[in-house]
Amino acid sequence: MITLDDVTKWLVLSGVGHILCGTRERWHTTACGTWTPNGEVVTDRPNRKCRKCVAALFIDRVVRQNKPNRAERSSTMKVLTVGHKYAMDSFEGEKAQTIQFIEKVPVDEGSTELKTVNDGTTNEEVLLVLIDRMQSLQSKFPCRENAIVITNLEESLMWLNKRTTDRKVRGVEGKQVR
Ligand SMILES: [Zn+2]
Repeated sequence: MITLDDVTKWLVLSGVGHILCGTRERWHTTACGTWTPNGEVVTDRPNRKCRKCVAALFIDRVVRQNKPNRAERSSTMKVLTVGHKYAMDSFEGEKAQTIQFIEKVPVDEGSTELKTVNDGTTNEEVLLVLIDRMQSLQSKFPCRENAIVITNLEESLMWLNKRTTDRKVRGVEGKQVR
């Protein structure tokens, strides 16, 4: 359940605080649907709050209370190997699906060279799956919330790709070097 206490970022526009939903290329989007490059992002709850933003929060809360999603009822995702292998809950209670991420260890103690001990997928692949799935949902049941989710997933993928590119440029990609 989301309440005012859960809101961590506000966008102050002309002295009024709006609930910040996301920022992309310096453009902010708020719970009331404002899309603007202006304003100041703050973490303290402003005295003056946008009524539409607060109402959006309330509607969200009412919807959630009336129809709690499964994730809220019981999250049974299990960590099988920290950072590498997870068991994901099946929605209808079928057996869990495991997901293995690529797992590498140094070839020798203290070495920066890595060898693969478990082949597996990457964060980027998982994001590509989620983006495709959300776009498919969005083509059938378009809504602003899904559009924001897609934007943020794409932004996450962009930052991961940037990180990989930077590491390649520095010649440290695939090595245990910061
Ligand atoms: Zn607002």
